[in-house]
Amino acid sequence: MTEASVEKFKSLSPSEFFYRNKEIAGFSNPARALYQTVRELVENALDATDSHHILPDIKVIIKNEVETPTSGLVGLSEAFEGGLYSVQVEDNGIGLPPSHVPRAFGQLLYSSKYVLRQTRGMFGLGAKMAVLYGQITTGKPAEITTSQVTSKRVYYYRIGIDVINNTPIIHEAATYMKTNDWHGTIVKIYLVGDWQRSKQKIYEYLKRTAIIAPYANIYFEDPDGEIMLFKRSTEEMPPPPREVQPHPYGVDLEMLKMMAATTKASTLVEFLYKEFQSVGITTANEIVQRSGLRPDLKPSDLTLEDLMKVLKAIKETNVKPPRADHLSNLGEKLIEIGLKESLKPEFVKAVTRKPSVYEGHAFIVEAGIAYGGRIPPSDKDFIPLLRYANKIPLLYDEAADVMRAVVRNIDWERYDVVFPAPLVVLIHICSTKVPYKGVGKEAVADVPEVEREMELAVKEAARELKSYLNMKAREREEAEKAVTIAKYIPNVSRSLSRIVGKVSEEVLARELLNMLNKRLTSFKIKNLSDVFVGVE
Ligand code: ADP
Ligand code: MG
Repeated sequence: MTEASVEKFKSLSPSEFFYRNKEIAGFSNPARALYQTVRELVENALDATDSHHILPDIKVIIKNEVETPTSGLVGLSEAFEGGLYSVQVEDNGIGLPPSHVPRAFGQLLYSSKYVLRQTRGMFGLGAKMAVLYGQITTGKPAEITTSQVTSKRVYYYRIGIDVINNTPIIHEAATYMKTNDWHGTIVKIYLVGDWQRSKQKIYEYLKRTAIIAPYANIYFEDPDGEIMLFKRSTEEMPPPPREVQPHPYGVDLEMLKMMAATTKASTLVEFLYKEFQSVGITTANEIVQRSGLRPDLKPSDLTLEDLMKVLKAIKETNVKPPRADHLSNLGEKLIEIGLKESLKPEFVKAVTRKPSVYEGHAFIVEAGIAYGGRIPPSDKDFIPLLRYANKIPLLYDEAADVMRAVVRNIDWERYDVVFPAPLVVLIHICSTKVPYKGVGKEAVADVPEVEREMELAVKEAARELKSYLNMKAREREEAEKAVTIAKYIPNVSRSLSRIVGKVSEEVLARELLNMLNKRLTSFKIKNLSDVFVGVE
């Protein structure tokens, strides 16, 4: 055997895997990494606030850091294209228990969100990828300051990642007594980034976050010293998401095996109705009967063969669809507020669809349409589309997203939209399992059930737009007639006054104008002023 034919085998830790494949989590170059860092930290900040019914106050500061001989970072930005930056995100959320901080920020795939609950985070990667990227490009650890709501202390950590072993490195740990009732988390990460190339995306990301979270205050200070404040426009928040049990249609053999091994239930029937949503005693018995197994079997004694029988029986049984009351969608009112505040349109309509299901996962689709006002016109192929999944704005990979396909396939002319049109479409999907195309969470996959719901939602909003446009056309026509008639009023009232006598020309003219005005002010649409240009 020659030397060259000997293959070397080894296994990678999750850290090393993502270290080698940073781009799949969105950290592909300094510009993208700066954007992704902001995004991951802001999403964690929002999860720590609105998911726990706290009105979010979020502060994002990106600074251009100076490379100094003492920082040991001289020449770094030459080694990596880009400059040295720090990203700091502060929230007023629930904070972290100190014992979990090192792993939450220093061990990949460590998360409090691996449960069936709708959150922005779901992979247990985001914060760590930012820490890892910062460490790779600057050698600096992340700084975390945190305090829980009930805690009397503030905890401060400097955390890095041991890439080979996927374990946190604690560079520093300190704690102080609290002097006020502050609670929340501040995360600061040093990294090589590229502000010029990510500036537009970061602003767009924050703007879109403000649309979908109109109840949040978001303060942003950029490296040029510009300050932008996205102020909350409502104190109303969607209900916080709740954790749910899995639906039987959503489990596979492996999951069933894990659940059976760890359940506290002592019999198969009990296991089914205690561990799954939508399964009552009757349904549980039905499933067991169909499987041909004994109802009093101990779940941990079930063989692989038994489990396959159970799984088959589940698929053959009519189980109630998954519950969706644990999903935290935004609701029509909040979407309309968000669109109105940010786009200043003349028309806005949002639609929240009833919950639906794909592969045993409940999901809700919402859509919004904003039209006219300050929205610039666009061509049919470039209708601005605001994409969201679990309240996260999606900015990249739009062409690959099923949402773009949905908007493209709608026959807008049927809804009386004439292009170029001042139109913006928003689509939001909420689910405990959003079918993302990758761990960077940038595009939603084309699952038929999801696509259909999106289409129905947009069409429903579009129908409202159509009736608005029709009404506008009718009223405009009437207004134009009124303008024509108004021109005759002086002549008509003069003649009338002469024929009838008694009433003066002025009184008649005033009366006729009043009647016209009354009709015009009763219009639903108030911005027909362009019709009256040049008319007294
Ligand atoms: P994910 O958000 O997918 O769970 P992350 O790596 O982004 O993964 O975060 C890991 C965990 O750290 C979270 O699940 C959460 O428990 C905790 N965490 C991160 N940031 C915050 C924060 N700002 N406030 C409270 N907890 C946080
Ligand atoms: Mg996260």
